[in-house]
Amino acid sequence: MHTFERVSDREFHFAGRRILVTGGAGFLGSHLCERLLSLGAEVIAVDNFYTGQRRNIYHLLSNPNFEIIRHDITFPLYIEVDAIFNLACPASPVHYQYDPVQTTKVSVHGAINMLGLAKRRRCRILQASTSEVYGDPSVHPQAESYWGSVNPIGPRACYDEGKRCAETLFFDYWRQHRLPIKVIRIFNTYGPRMRMDDGRVVSNFIVQALKGRPITIYGDGSQTRSFCYVDDLIDGMLRLMSTPEGITGPVNVGNPEEYTMRQLAELVIKITGSQSPIVTMPLPQDDPKQRCPNIEMAKRVLGWRPTIAVADGLAKTISYFRDVLVSDTKGADSDAFAE
Ligand code: NAD
Ligand code: UDP
Repeated sequence: MHTFERVSDREFHFAGRRILVTGGAGFLGSHLCERLLSLGAEVIAVDNFYTGQRRNIYHLLSNPNFEIIRHDITFPLYIEVDAIFNLACPASPVHYQYDPVQTTKVSVHGAINMLGLAKRRRCRILQASTSEVYGDPSVHPQAESYWGSVNPIGPRACYDEGKRCAETLFFDYWRQHRLPIKVIRIFNTYGPRMRMDDGRVVSNFIVQALKGRPITIYGDGSQTRSFCYVDDLIDGMLRLMSTPEGITGPVNVGNPEEYTMRQLAELVIKITGSQSPIVTMPLPQDDPKQRCPNIEMAKRVLGWRPTIAVADGLAKTISYFRDVLVSDTKGADSDAFAE
């Protein structure tokens, strides 16, 4: 029998708090650090630079409220913080399948280490979960009540099952220790600071279009995804973290505008004005056929909805990649995957 402390119904404010962001040099993590600093928080980013890039956080290094620690969260971390955003984990299928054992380790051991830290500090902790917990879904669009359809032994399982197990751990820490947890299920998010060689569809199509190379559609391109611009996603993440302690999620955050991959390729070609041809390549195993969030809970609980249309977000992302291509054709400066 457990005795539960009464949970606080107070909202959380970031100003003056010391916030840990794991995966802070990554695509989403660097945007989150930037937003937290602008809200008056002190930010400690932890990253092992597996897919993170130093260039993502260069501009933050001179800020006295920002600190970066090179550390692999599969090992324990003892540090004094007031809240934790746990984002460390490669998110692109190419990168998380490169070392699948490490992917499960960072999802599971990493979660255990960060939950242990949160438990010692009695502080709130947010888990960056994913629409991948729904696998190749038979329910469409996906609501939080859907339990998903995941192949536990396929090539995506290291990530999907790792993230599912992390959710299990979070909810057990909530039930067993009354730890204030927040679980956000992120649907495909894109924007500036994705790696050139990230391998996910938006960056692939944009880089291919800008370089005049063939645009690689996997399969016949009829599979769908729904794309959320990074600023909207970070806004949803901050709103969830600020909610009273009794609100745990999981909450879907994503843009329900659904596109086939062929439509996305055509849109990227149109916006870039590229002459790139479209070519088809084999569909990877277990590639989900459709994905679109039901965001009713985010609207109701967080007062959140996406504000940036896909065409506008793509235009901003294209402009970012244009600049990176001009300044550095290599586009990779991290330890792994460096060209
Ligand atoms: P990313 O690959 O750019 O960022 C992940 C970061 O984690 C990188 O900086 C990487 O170096 C770091 N990292 C990896 N293993 C680590 C370890 N063992 N210790 C410390 N740091 C480690 O990916 P992203 O798109 O920014 O994703 C961030 C988080 O959001 C991930 O947890 C991902 O699963 C989740 N997510 C992202 C999306 C999306 O569309 N971007 C969708 C669903 C979920
Ligand atoms: N995809 C594609 N061409 C690419 C990269 C990806 O057609 O160059 C497809 C991929 O097969 C999937 C979708 O785009 O159906 C989204 O892939 P991504 O790797 O971005 O993320 P996922 O949602 O599959 O994790």
